[in-house]
Amino acid sequence: MDGFIEQAQRRIRESAAVVPGEHAPTLPGLDKLSDARASLPDATGKDYLSGLGPVDTFTHLMNDIVPGLNGENRSGRYWGFVTGSTLPIAEVADNIVSAYDQNVQVHLPNQTIATEVEDAALKMLLRLLHLGEPEQWEGRTFTTGATGSNILGLACGREAVITSRLAGSSESVGEIGLLRACMKAGIGEIQVLTSMGHSSLSKAASVVGLGRASVKLLPFSDAEPWRLDIDAVERELQRENVASIIAISAGEVNTGRFATTGVEDMQRLRRLADQYRAWIHVDGAFGVFARVLPPREEFSSLHKANAGLELCDSMTIDGHKLLNVPYDNGIFFTRKSSTLNSVFKNPNAAYLASDNTSQIQSPLNIGLENSRRFRALPVYAVLMSEGKPGISRMMERMVVTARGIARAIRSCGDDYVLLPDAGSRPLSFDDDIHIVVLFRAKDDALNKVLVQRINEGNEWYVSGSSWDGKPAVRVAVSSWRADSEDAFNTVKRSLTAISEAHRHS
Ligand SMILES: *Cc1c(COP(=O)(O)O)cnc(C)c1O
Repeated sequence: MDGFIEQAQRRIRESAAVVPGEHAPTLPGLDKLSDARASLPDATGKDYLSGLGPVDTFTHLMNDIVPGLNGENRSGRYWGFVTGSTLPIAEVADNIVSAYDQNVQVHLPNQTIATEVEDAALKMLLRLLHLGEPEQWEGRTFTTGATGSNILGLACGREAVITSRLAGSSESVGEIGLLRACMKAGIGEIQVLTSMGHSSLSKAASVVGLGRASVKLLPFSDAEPWRLDIDAVERELQRENVASIIAISAGEVNTGRFATTGVEDMQRLRRLADQYRAWIHVDGAFGVFARVLPPREEFSSLHKANAGLELCDSMTIDGHKLLNVPYDNGIFFTRKSSTLNSVFKNPNAAYLASDNTSQIQSPLNIGLENSRRFRALPVYAVLMSEGKPGISRMMERMVVTARGIARAIRSCGDDYVLLPDAGSRPLSFDDDIHIVVLFRAKDDALNKVLVQRINEGNEWYVSGSSWDGKPAVRVAVSSWRADSEDAFNTVKRSLTAISEAHRHS
């Protein structure tokens, strides 16, 4: 097998390369997908699982499977969902991760540097995002994504709000279980208070035993449902025998807007949470990266919406979205490692003991997994390579591109409308737009097929959404390849052509 990996890697790179100035297709095309599907192994065939060997398998992967993959990473105009893409240095680091296959599970400082690299990456992130000093965020770890981090956030919140009501006892939910702990603490209900919380928050609520129905939406108004009604939060916190976790959407995935409007909102929430022994979790999967934008007027609205988020008890951040590292990658921060430890301690495994007593916790005692991928390395590499200035420029490019797309939509005459269009601050769009743009066609018939029309053109890719009960198109810019001029021209040309064609159909 001399040179197999080297040759394979060269071919992979040739196949994934993007010619400068060109755009890879956003989607593979249905013909390529059915070819790929037809190439999958047939369980009734006599050679099923017979073993092709690495050379033929590689040929199969490159010739049959790869053509059936979408353009998330390569296109730069794959604006559906918020998928990010991968910076070259992150891809390189990820290859190191596979080549050296470290298991980042137990802190073994005399055997591998991996856990210390992980911790260095987490500390750099704290500094990058202006969240405070590492000593204030002693509970920190990498996860598989924002869903994983939201599960950690609700698990920590659950642990804290119940334990604080087990007066004087050394017991915890992690030890005696949710049911017994709630009975002892006199808690009849645990609620998660939010505004347009991400769907994964409900999933997390189910996983940690609170139930999806525990998630309560407290919208500020019909016009600004993403914004949290703090008066309503205060009323909910006063309920007898109820413990609460406040989950802040920063930002909200459909509109890109933020649940809080400034540092005063966060200060008030902090006071309320302290008074009523509630927990504040910030879901900042992509939104908190607005904190890295330069301190300029055009970004002041985003900075304001992000101000004070560091007053939370725990925070979710995604790596595989705006930070542009490969899947899968998430980050979780909380104040005390003892909260994480109380939930995630992997007890009594003598063979997994760490050989030191430093500040760095063994990851298996502060997160979901035991065995873990060295997913910190691509984040470490991006932070080392780009530094704060480079990441700030990348974030700025994404925001400016999203705003360029909004301008393109507005410039198409009267055919399309930017959403949300009924806000209390209508049409201050440019300043409020982070990386998400929501819009629809005014003509209902066109609006119904708009996502399909855009995506079948294979020039730009969007996701279908809805707003006010009607279909809407959602654009999310999250790639380092973002190019505002190209985006403006593409969207304007494409939308004009689509509405022209519709008028003549
Ligand atoms: C994307 C997203 C999630 C889920 O993240 P995954 O990384 O896909 O698990 C959760 N919350 C918000 C706000 C998001 O944008």
